[in-house]
Amino acid sequence: MYPTVHVVGHPLVQHKLTLMRRKETPTAEFRRLLREIAMLLAYEVTRDLPLTTERIETPVAPMQAPVLEGKKLCVISILRAGNGLLDGFLDLIPSARVGHIGLYRDPQTLVPVEYYMKVPQDIGDRLTVVLDPMLATGHSAVAALDRVKAAGATQITIVHIIAAPEGVQTVQDAHPDVRMVIGAIDPGLNELAYIVPGLGDAGDRQFGTAGHG
Ligand code: URA
Repeated sequence: MYPTVHVVGHPLVQHKLTLMRRKETPTAEFRRLLREIAMLLAYEVTRDLPLTTERIETPVAPMQAPVLEGKKLCVISILRAGNGLLDGFLDLIPSARVGHIGLYRDPQTLVPVEYYMKVPQDIGDRLTVVLDPMLATGHSAVAALDRVKAAGATQITIVHIIAAPEGVQTVQDAHPDVRMVIGAIDPGLNELAYIVPGLGDAGDRQFGTAGHG
């Protein structure tokens, strides 16, 4: 395994993932579980944020108490499935700045094409967290990482709830400096580039749009 890849084996993450994978799980519950998993993954992403101390007084005594040193965060949602993860991240880190990247795959060339991008101007001063729930071939993730780097981001973590080994390899080959935080790595992809066993289309499952064009 690569040194920058961190699979979160926490029992709560694994249990909630199983509930999300079940095909009977209804939209509202899927969305709630995605938000909860996002909070657990955000805990991992922020594990090494630097601390400083400040003097406070408790009702009992004064103390030098730990507080975040002020490292600023920017959370980037890859549309549209990233938005469900974004909700959970913002529950835990409400002051984070938010960016969005919209990409679609050209049906002829299969190359990801950008249709929307807006990120904070000072992204270079922030720890940048890119949210992409399902890492399949990895081409969209690489395209999104190319764009956040072009916008100035240097310290980047990408978050997936489920990844295929092919996608991890593709991201690692293109962006070995990017830290990857992943809920589970599944065995592979099918001929439609869905993760197997995966959970289906994360966008359709969280927004209830399966079967619509
Ligand atoms: N995107 C999804 O939502 N699901 C997959 O299995 C692959 C890509």
